[in-house]
Amino acid sequence: MTLKSSQYLEIMKEYDEIQLLHKKELNARQEEIYKKIPEIKQLDQELSTGSIAKMKELILSGDSITSRQMKENNRILREKKKELLSRNGYPADYLEPIFTCKLCKDTGYDENQKKCSCLNQKIIKKLYAQSYIQRFLETENFGSFDFTYYSKEKEEKFPFSPYENIQNVYHKCKDFVRDFDTCTNNIIFTGSTGVGKTFLAKCIAKDLLDSGHTVLYLSAPKLLEQILPILKKGGTLDSELQGLSSYIYDAQLLIMDDLGTEYTTAYTITMLQSLLNERRLRNHATIITTNYSIHDIKEQYGERISSRILESFHVFFLYGQDIRYQKRERQIKQKNA
Ligand SMILES: [Zn+2]
Repeated sequence: MTLKSSQYLEIMKEYDEIQLLHKKELNARQEEIYKKIPEIKQLDQELSTGSIAKMKELILSGDSITSRQMKENNRILREKKKELLSRNGYPADYLEPIFTCKLCKDTGYDENQKKCSCLNQKIIKKLYAQSYIQRFLETENFGSFDFTYYSKEKEEKFPFSPYENIQNVYHKCKDFVRDFDTCTNNIIFTGSTGVGKTFLAKCIAKDLLDSGHTVLYLSAPKLLEQILPILKKGGTLDSELQGLSSYIYDAQLLIMDDLGTEYTTAYTITMLQSLLNERRLRNHATIITTNYSIHDIKEQYGERISSRILESFHVFFLYGQDIRYQKRERQIKQKNA
């Protein structure tokens, strides 16, 4: 994993900024609450300085004080605080420390000093990979998926209408995300241009990134022509791709977009095969999008790859009218309206 030290420092600075932001937010909340519910201010005072006074008092009254009692006392005070917050319509944890990542408390490292998944994600982001996909994630996600591009009319050659088919695939993609941590699945999206293959792959990427998984998105030409051949030959990639290279094998999800658009040779086929094997051995998921059918894949890449795909990938075949074409049509209609 090669990350320039300046890049590492940038990431650590991000964490500092997040922590600072949350601290400010918490202070603002505290001020707000103290004004609205003065009892809470009293409770807080009791919790900090008050606890010392309480202790003195207890000692003076001759009670034998144990730390357990003190703790119990604090616990009761905290419960009271939560109760007061709830009663006033606030979430009970409104005054608890705020963390973007609860796992590492926004430090990047968990309690065993292991890198947190959010840190890994930030590293990948730095290393170009995400920067490509990142731009799309705001607009291309499950929430923005538009089913109206898929016709409800059934064609003779297909058992389902494009609409029924995409509904089914869409929900299976959501299941893929839901089950991601418990079972390793792979997906290949096949179908002609503009039927939503890459879009769905990005929907999955977005949800998995949001839940702190490492996702790497690369086009098949970039991966099979530019990166893997250099890696295999033991050559050096430029620094940008260098850091990326371990993630080709280690990212929890690799999306290889547009298989079939690369310049295919016996060599790229071997590389594709070993890539799929390697990722399977490491129990990491792969998503492929391609205009090829499984039959085409067999013709183009051979039996071994096609049967590997058939045995370990969900094959989602998408069909319908080219969405890019439909979008243009809609735009023209809008203009003329
Ligand atoms: Zn974290």
